Amino acid sequence: MIQADKKTLQRILDDNRKYTADGKVADYIPELGHANPAALGFTVATKNDGIASVGDCGTTFTLQSISKVISLLVALLDHGPKKVFAKVGMEPSGDPFNSIIKLETMDHHKPLNPMINAGAIAIASMIAGNHVEERFQRVCELLHLMTANTHISLNEQVYRSEKATGDRNRSLAYFMKSTGIIETDVEEALDLYFQLCSIQVRCSDLAKIGLFLANWGRIEGKDSPLVDPCIVQILLTIMMTSGMYNASGEFAIHVGIPAKSGVSGGILAVVPNKMGIGVIGPAIDDKGNSVAGMRILEDLSKEYGLHVFSEG
Ligand code: GLU
Repeated sequence: MIQADKKTLQRILDDNRKYTADGKVADYIPELGHANPAALGFTVATKNDGIASVGDCGTTFTLQSISKVISLLVALLDHGPKKVFAKVGMEPSGDPFNSIIKLETMDHHKPLNPMINAGAIAIASMIAGNHVEERFQRVCELLHLMTANTHISLNEQVYRSEKATGDRNRSLAYFMKSTGIIETDVEEALDLYFQLCSIQVRCSDLAKIGLFLANWGRIEGKDSPLVDPCIVQILLTIMMTSGMYNASGEFAIHVGIPAKSGVSGGILAVVPNKMGIGVIGPAIDDKGNSVAGMRILEDLSKEYGLHVFSEG
């Protein structure tokens, strides 16, 4: 059992606590500014070996950009890759997550990928449903299935705070509406995007989402996949190339596992065929990644030989 390794996991946590002092809690969304910068914890959920948590895993936090993986999954289920990637690219951007600059110059004004804000808002505009509430519920229901936690829901305060301060996102969305990337109601797309970013979770939920992806779209213990493994392959590839903001290349070299972080300090990581990992460490660097969280993933990768490009 992974529980037997709890000492190792605890050591990795303890070794990296000092790095929480090297980051800052995001406060451009005022409600996120209330997080504890010293909090640090992670959960590992393995394929055949159980689940283990160390540190401040009781901490709740919002998905923020981690929701981009789930909304991409739902859009791909709704429309298939061809239609989705006609509107949003597959290339790493190398720019900050909320950058607007390349929207004007790219071919057909396509946002570069679904992991940056522009791409994720365009993806949100494609999620099927009669109204925003129904679309949000569809995403939540999928999360409930993946995590076996039906308590996952909206953090109302964070949602209101995002909505009140999301002018950059509004400008991205209206620009994309003007160029035809967004074909549906732009305010509804934004509202859904803000809600998806404000879904509240714990590390264990992220680890179980990770395990679901590590199992190629299967719920632990069930044989048939809930989603086509080809879709999971797309998600993992985009996480690998674009999941850690404009530090994705560096993270791929040092850690070597598909991951997606959010400005709340959460990181979802997936070791294909083996495990899902959920990390929380609200102190983030200037690119948006949890400083101590990235160190933990690097240590886990080295300790257990998790880099996906490893000699056999
Ligand atoms: N809700 C955040 C925003 O739109 C998400 C940013 C992030 O986590 O990267 O700014």
